[in-house]
Amino acid sequence: MYDLKAIVIGAGMAGLAAGIAMRQAGYEVEIYEKTSKLRPAGAGISLWSNGIKVLNKLGLGKEIAGIGGQMNRMEYRNLEGEVLTDVNLIPLMEQVGQRPYPVSRTDLQQMMLSAFGESDVKMGMRCVEVKQDADSATAIFEDGSTATGDVVIGADGVHSVVRTYLAGGKITPRYAGYVNWNGLVEASPDLAESDVWVIYVGDGKRASMMPVGNNRFYFFMGCPKPQGTTAPNGDIRSELKETFAGWAQPVQNLIEKLDPEQVNRLEIGDIDPLPNLVEGRIALVGDSAHATTPTLGQGGCQAMEDAEVLCRYLVTTNISVEDALKRYEAERKERVAKLVLKARKRTDTIYNKEPDLTQQWYEQLKQEDPQDVTGAIAKIILGGPLH
Ligand SMILES: Cc1cc2nc3c(=O)[nH]c(=O)nc-3n(C[C@H](O)[C@H](O)[C@H](O)COP(=O)(O)OP(=O)(O)OC[C@H]3O[C@@H](n4cnc5c(N)ncnc54)[C@H](O)[C@@H]3O)c2cc1C
Repeated sequence: MYDLKAIVIGAGMAGLAAGIAMRQAGYEVEIYEKTSKLRPAGAGISLWSNGIKVLNKLGLGKEIAGIGGQMNRMEYRNLEGEVLTDVNLIPLMEQVGQRPYPVSRTDLQQMMLSAFGESDVKMGMRCVEVKQDADSATAIFEDGSTATGDVVIGADGVHSVVRTYLAGGKITPRYAGYVNWNGLVEASPDLAESDVWVIYVGDGKRASMMPVGNNRFYFFMGCPKPQGTTAPNGDIRSELKETFAGWAQPVQNLIEKLDPEQVNRLEIGDIDPLPNLVEGRIALVGDSAHATTPTLGQGGCQAMEDAEVLCRYLVTTNISVEDALKRYEAERKERVAKLVLKARKRTDTIYNKEPDLTQQWYEQLKQEDPQDVTGAIAKIILGGPLH
């Protein structure tokens, strides 16, 4: 279809990827964002090759390579620091045809904002409702103003208002049972080797570092906790010291080096797979459609895939917008549902939901064939729209 006008709600990864793709297709695109200043939630993100392939297709290959870390190996270690599994990631890259890139979220957001046109994003516009008729779809904003187009795309994240419309009621995310701390530190050999993604596991917790551009590590640590906790006295460093007492020296070094003021402390959740991702002229993309626990590193990558598939059907079919959105839903629904549930299962294993299973997993890591590890990652990557 041609001459379409799209209204996108939310300027996160999903909204920006969809916006860039649709603009490149020649559509008129308006992105509306509720905040007055965008601030990424979280410090870093690993974009696996399926997400990177979408960025390559959007013409951002050089830019993403410029801000990405060189992650050539992956190591699991126990809490004492002994290596359990050591995986060379180069054969994975050769199999799937593209290197993954861990990146700082601020860098990624800036790259995507620049590609769309930063001043074109309409800031401070909170969508409160959406509606549609036979010819158009409309977003209504808090200030009473409206935006009407041929299609409205809900890229408004885990607490999506657009999803509330589609689902016929508010869906509250499910708490996954653990707290995640994440941030960035300058890379140094007393933390980890510069091209390795290292993951320390033990006692149903984990502590991990991966290289991102500009000689930094993105770190993330996790521990099961009841919902609603905060760092005692607001002191994150002490909380981490206590949580990871007795863990290997690099983990202690990390806790000493991190800037507690810059650490994000998040309670992690997800949503159950949705029965529908579209209705009429309104579609969901990204976390609004399939917020997931981050244990497969696929949430953002799926947002990229959504953008590519949605735009492809709008461009390559010409029956109607509604028909194109149905095709998008048919291609995406099962894939994203499976990944949400797979990530949930993995989260439960990592974070001690059933301690016997977690212990079994630790044992399994000692005997893991690296090819099985890369094979499992390759399967997820190659299951995406750009094989
Ligand atoms: C700790 C953690 C680690 C992760 N690690 C990875 C990883 O390694 N790899 C990976 O691929 N994924 C990862 N993810 C998942 C990834 O971060 C998300 O899937 C991705 O950010 C979703 O992007 P989004 O654009 O859909 O949502 P968001 O980033 O939440 O963006 C939504 C935007 O919509 C705006 N908005 C919300 N409501 C409204 C409204 N009513 N009106 C207007 N605007 C609105 C928000 O302000 C926001 O800017 C991780 C997630 C977490 C929490």
